[in-house]
Amino acid sequence: MQCPFCKVDNDRVVDSRVIGEGSSIRRRRKCLECDRRFTTYERIETSPRLVVKKDQRREFFNRDKILAGLRVACQKRDISESQIDALVGQVESDVFERYDNEVSTRAIGEYVSRRLRKLDSIAFVRFASVYREFHAVEQFAPLLSAVSAGADDDYYADDASAGGASNGSGPGANGGPGLDGFGGRLR
Ligand SMILES: [Zn+2]
Repeated sequence: MQCPFCKVDNDRVVDSRVIGEGSSIRRRRKCLECDRRFTTYERIETSPRLVVKKDQRREFFNRDKILAGLRVACQKRDISESQIDALVGQVESDVFERYDNEVSTRAIGEYVSRRLRKLDSIAFVRFASVYREFHAVEQFAPLLSAVSAGADDDYYADDASAGGASNGSGPGANGGPGLDGFGGRLR
C-alpha cells in the first residue's frame, strides 16, 4: 500500500481488527520508509446500488458521502472514527439487505438516523437537520442554523466542509428543547 505521507510502497501491518460485525477489517500500517502510520479498510465488494435523490437524479451509492455527513454531525462529540465507520457499515448492511437496485436518499437517511440516535442525540439532531425537511425546523433555527445552512435534500452533506458545525457555539452547545420534537417524528 502506498504511504499517504511519503508515497513509498513499503509498509508493514501492525494491527488488524474486525469491525462492523465482521463486515470489514481495519488494518493499521506502518510505513517502513518514513515510519509514519496509516489505516486501511478492507471490505467485501457489493453490487452497486443506485441512490435516488429527491429530484429523481440517480447516483451510485457512495459510503464516503455518508461518512462525510456523519463526520460533520459528530464533530466535537465523544464518538470515535471507528464508531462512525462501524455505523456506516451497519447502514450499508441495512441498505444492501433490503434493496436490490435503487434506494432513496430518504431511506438511507432514516437508517443513518436510527443508528445515530442510539449513539449520540446531538449528532442525531445535527444529521437530521441536514437531510430532512422539518416543518418545525424554524423553531430550532438558533440551534440548527449552522448546520442547515446550505443543506439540500441530500441524505449526506455533499460538502462536508460547509456544515459549519466546526464552530464551538454550534448546536452541540445546547441540546435544547428540540430533541423530543425530533425524536417523536422519527420514531
Ligand atoms: Zn511513508
